[in-house]
Amino acid sequence: MANIPACAIGLGSNLGESLVILTGAIERLKIHPQIKLLDVSSWYHTAPIGPPQPDYLNGCATVETSLSALELLSVLQSIETEFGRVRGEVWGARTLDLDLLLYSDRVIDLPTLQVPHPHMCDRAFVLVPLAQIAPDWLEPKSGKSIATLVAKLEDSDVKLVR
Ligand code: AMP
Repeated sequence: MANIPACAIGLGSNLGESLVILTGAIERLKIHPQIKLLDVSSWYHTAPIGPPQPDYLNGCATVETSLSALELLSVLQSIETEFGRVRGEVWGARTLDLDLLLYSDRVIDLPTLQVPHPHMCDRAFVLVPLAQIAPDWLEPKSGKSIATLVAKLEDSDVKLVR
């Protein structure tokens, strides 16, 4: 579809019924009138970064949208709020975390939005699920494909759940 940006979204949860919450978030994306859900990865158990906290469930989705990147971020934040995300500790546990990873081949550097998402290139919990559904997508800052980036990762504590 020409002129309709394809975007990648990272999803994570480590509080509450994570699988139910993540599935619910996907459902919200699916029913949004300006978002077309393209693909959803499997869900992966991943080790947390930061203070001691439960393991995460992580996955990725790809979508097409007529929303701008800032509008899409705002939709993601309202879905987070709907599922009870309370913004607390920066690296702390969360019921739902939604990140805009990629917005077509755009590089965006605004105070409230950086795309590609900072650090996505060295995070296995992002790259492993994304490589499952979009291995050939070129991360625009490095110019490398997601498959190439995932191959460069050191051993990672990312286990497929289903
Ligand atoms: P976090 O607590 O990790 O979900 O971070 C949320 C904050 O990161 C929000 O205030 C966003 O404005 C900001 N942010 C910057 N870039 C992004 C992005 N690509 N995706 C999601 N949030 C982002």
